[in-house]
Amino acid sequence: MKLAERMSRIGAESAFDVLTRARALEAQGRDVIHLEIGEPDFPTPKHIVDAGKKALDEGWTHYGPTQGYPELREAIAEHISTTRGIQANPANVCVTPGGKPIIFFPMLALLGPGDEVIYPNPGFPIYESMIRVSGATPVPVPLIEERGFSFDLAIFRKSLTSQTKMVVLNSPQNPTGGMIPAEDIAAIADELRDRDVVVLSDEIYARIVYGDEHPVSIASMPGMLEKTIILDGFSKTYAMTGWRLGYGVMPPFLVDPVNKLMVNSNSCTASFTQKAGVAALRGPQDDVRTMVREFHRRRDAFCAGLNDIPGWHCAIPGGAFYAFANVKATGRPSREIADSLLADAGVACLNGGGFGEYGEGYIRFSYANSYENLMRAVERIKTWSRSASV
Ligand code: PLP
Repeated sequence: MKLAERMSRIGAESAFDVLTRARALEAQGRDVIHLEIGEPDFPTPKHIVDAGKKALDEGWTHYGPTQGYPELREAIAEHISTTRGIQANPANVCVTPGGKPIIFFPMLALLGPGDEVIYPNPGFPIYESMIRVSGATPVPVPLIEERGFSFDLAIFRKSLTSQTKMVVLNSPQNPTGGMIPAEDIAAIADELRDRDVVVLSDEIYARIVYGDEHPVSIASMPGMLEKTIILDGFSKTYAMTGWRLGYGVMPPFLVDPVNKLMVNSNSCTASFTQKAGVAALRGPQDDVRTMVREFHRRRDAFCAGLNDIPGWHCAIPGGAFYAFANVKATGRPSREIADSLLADAGVACLNGGGFGEYGEGYIRFSYANSYENLMRAVERIKTWSRSASV
């Protein structure tokens, strides 16, 4: 049976491929330290789990409204309004099973052949994959390490054409951990304000930041709220990856098309999961702060360890839980390094090239693993690097 032509354009996520290879090695008795997958290693906070259990006991086990329960949409709108400094309306919130559908649905609803989409490279692989599936043309803009992995603004400006229909931003960023500075957000908004474009602002790591600097949402810039989709969710902030709960806050004209795509695919997001989401947003936030503090401690120690390895340089990431180490000075292709680290040193990590061509020469590590395992990983990489250079 021949697959539909669009399937030749769909991509994948290398993290899941490497996880499969790592598990196969473990099945052979090898010890592997998992630094490939991007999910918090913390349990979902207890009061959220309790709210989910209570909802199951109370019978929240049936279909719910396609767009999400009003109670959750109100809690989301309040949360987004306070954290982004905007007036978010619950009517413009669409609740989905995870944040990913807020890439999938708006792209399917808006894009087609002839449209161009500007997106970060290296970047989350689903952006390029879905741009291609929609039939639109992907226009990658390189991120510059020296600029904290923000866009090359000159290339960004040159990439804008009359066919640009969407611009994807992601801050804090996967895979680099970089954060787009406020002045760059303002400069990007200045370019887009008078254009007929939609911005997909992926802010799923907005609460996982270190230091005093906070990410600025482009939706808070004058004239941008009406053309911005904010993607956020519960997966990363509340260690709820498996619950599948995310959302988009979008311009009113997109709510109905997104609901239609939702009713054609999922019908609705699980009801008890949404009840847990209300508890997450309205309940105590101490667990989030504790998790971020621990990520901060790990980031400092892990990046310092990587920076101690000859030929390696790791910029200190401002957010998310990824370290993106520059290994160009080793003279070896980053794919080869990532493969060898897994096969020979038992450290599962990702080739930066899997996030786009401008990610070549980098290795992505997720430091969502224990401090002890991260220190063991640094020792393994150091030993591997000594033996690899002889
Ligand atoms: N956006 C980015 C940048 C991500 O890294 C991820 C998950 O890895 C997502 C969106 C999707 O998150 P979810 O698990 O909520 O679908």
